[in-house]
Amino acid sequence: MENEIQNKAQIDEIQTGSQTEIQPETHPEVKTHKCLNCGTEFERNFCPECGQSADSGRFTMRFIFENLVAAFTSKDGGIWFTLKNLFTRPGAMVVDMLNGKRRSYFSPFPMLFFVLTVYILLFTLTGSRGEIKELEREYLETEETIDLNLDEKTQKSLARANEIQKLFGQGVRLYNNHYTAVTMLTIPLFLFATRAWYGKSNRKRYYRAEYLVAIAYSMVIVVLYRCLTSLVFLFSDDVEDTMLNFIPLVTIAAFTACFRRMLGFSIAKTAWRSLLALGLYYIILGTLLLTICIGLYFFLIAGRQ
Ligand SMILES: [Zn+2]
Repeated sequence: MENEIQNKAQIDEIQTGSQTEIQPETHPEVKTHKCLNCGTEFERNFCPECGQSADSGRFTMRFIFENLVAAFTSKDGGIWFTLKNLFTRPGAMVVDMLNGKRRSYFSPFPMLFFVLTVYILLFTLTGSRGEIKELEREYLETEETIDLNLDEKTQKSLARANEIQKLFGQGVRLYNNHYTAVTMLTIPLFLFATRAWYGKSNRKRYYRAEYLVAIAYSMVIVVLYRCLTSLVFLFSDDVEDTMLNFIPLVTIAAFTACFRRMLGFSIAKTAWRSLLALGLYYIILGTLLLTICIGLYFFLIAGRQ
């Protein structure tokens, strides 16, 4: 009878939802929590339904600070731990992820967003000097082609080719200045290129999303390299120029490192296929860019004359 009364009291508590803790009759020392996130009642430190911690109190500065520090330093999905693995055992990490060992690592796309944000911050601080340099170079290039002793028709077509070339140069500049957006928008293109070259059996073996995991981690490496070049630019723009030339090579190395184990290829074979995939990516991207430039030229510039 006493039990019944207590149970009724508990039901009342659940229904009104006003109380967050209930004392069970048998073990008065064990506290039952009501999960503040999903409402499930449980006895241990974490909610068995949604995983939220039992001591989710009010927000404090200390909590925010500890949370931020944990995002970087935690061995359980922290950024540093993930980066360390990305540079010491990238292929094994991707395979771990695909096999379900996920909590240990920072997820690939949030990771990519994070490093792209860092890149944007660095680019905002250092990028303006790059634009000035680019404008100077363009000015010098256009001066070279002015005094040519040719007939009118050739001169006209040369001028037209020059216009398109200039537009393409602007397209490339646009690409560099909007690298972050282009990277995110062309991920489907990377997916297409890698699936095209990494073998038919792998295409059958892995989902598209599983390719995307390896692609995202590869791009993290490439973006970090770009961050490094942006930093180096503060000290020397010549070294930065040299470093930028290595981006295709870094990209191939990153794809090789992240994909090799997953594909089950040798290093040489993965590198070769990555080269072909990147080539295909640049060909498609270049064609797109050139088409847009020529289209813009004929519709905007030639249309006005
Ligand atoms: Zn819960």
